[in-house]
Amino acid sequence: MALIVQKYGGTSVGSPERIKNVAQRVAKFKMLGHQVVVVVSAMSGETNRLVALAKEVQPNPDLREMDVLLSTGEQVTIALLSMALMELGLKARSYTGAQVKIVTDSAFSKARILDIEEQNMRADLDAGHVVVVAGFQGVDEKGNITTLGRGGSDTTGVALAAALKADECQIYTDVDGVYTTDPRVVSEARRLKTVTFEEMLEMASLGSKVLQIRSVEFAGKYKVKLRVLSSFDDEGEGTLITFEEEDKMEQAIISGIAFNRDEAKITVLGVPDRPGIAYQILGPVGDANIDVDMIIQNVGADGTTDFTFTVHRNEYKKALEVLKGVQAHIGAREITGDDRIAKVSVVGVGMRSHAGIASTMFRTLAEEGINIQMISTSEIKISVVIDEKYLELAVRVLHKAFALDQEA
Ligand code: ADP
Ligand code: ASP
Ligand code: MG
Repeated sequence: MALIVQKYGGTSVGSPERIKNVAQRVAKFKMLGHQVVVVVSAMSGETNRLVALAKEVQPNPDLREMDVLLSTGEQVTIALLSMALMELGLKARSYTGAQVKIVTDSAFSKARILDIEEQNMRADLDAGHVVVVAGFQGVDEKGNITTLGRGGSDTTGVALAAALKADECQIYTDVDGVYTTDPRVVSEARRLKTVTFEEMLEMASLGSKVLQIRSVEFAGKYKVKLRVLSSFDDEGEGTLITFEEEDKMEQAIISGIAFNRDEAKITVLGVPDRPGIAYQILGPVGDANIDVDMIIQNVGADGTTDFTFTVHRNEYKKALEVLKGVQAHIGAREITGDDRIAKVSVVGVGMRSHAGIASTMFRTLAEEGINIQMISTSEIKISVVIDEKYLELAVRVLHKAFALDQEA
């Protein structure tokens, strides 16, 4: 007997029929004698619908109330799935985040899990119940409802698996695993049988939304056996997230290409080239709770320099306003920006031991006439910022240039 945590995403629970299919799959695991905890997302489109609803009432919605609103999506699904399980003759019980008690900090809309009480779930499992938990939500120490950021049900799944020391965490979604890149953009993308935690972390942080980054962090930290699978196929191994040591041999140099359309870039032109300037620019941005991603500062000429950085596109306007407010203080000549950019990244642990990856990447983009606006690298990834309109072309040609369409 194993303890398995299964997470089903929005598309997988998008209609009553699909919820019944999920119940069938859960029943199959129960019949094999396993204990099952199921984490579900809101039905597909529901979270977006609620976000739009809020914005009609309050253009810049209050974050506490937003979390109260958004958490309702998952509450619908847990009840429906529990009913579907009962219809199959199984014992099932639903839990909201607060009922489990998934304790988080109070950072509404991007809360972090601090603690999970497991007694009630354990007791239910031991009594033969399927435990059905609402993903994406928790409760802070004062009893406020919180949410974990978009895609957060993945993190609920992995965190529950870690807390319960589950034998495996299975993430069921609308693709049958992690691919070399988003299969909806490049039809030649291939499913990876395995991908290392490190690579998955990079891919998730660079825009591959198949797993929320925090779920991968959790899995790495607590050594959760994590697999991504299709909720629509009955067969298939999906993709196992592994520790590098396990499959070091014959590692492909590049494992995947990630991309992100959610960024915008801001350039502060003609700032005095002296100590403290980065702090003067990014300090107020940080104080406004805006996360900064890539940063570039040019070599100074004539005693001045240009400073460019990227932020989430949703925070572009706010960041521009913040900087305009301190422009005179910084002594900057001009502040400009562009919110029509995209970031493309190639990721692979094999990069550590191979030279020439960057030049292949840059040559491939040059051959298509795609201008690179910013570059950043780490040991296992190279990212470039380009004009958003070339994004799909860039991903396709890079996928081919690194032979990702061919079996490694
Ligand atoms: P869910 O609702 O099940 O959480 P998501 O939409 O969050 O599903 O994540 C699955 C989607 O992630 C896929 O439909 C696919 O378009 C996208 N995706 C992006 N990059 C990748 C990748 N490298 N491999 C697989 N899917 C990817
Ligand atoms: N329903 C939330 C979202 O759409 C959480 C999730 O699906 O993981 O982002
Ligand atoms: Mg998701």
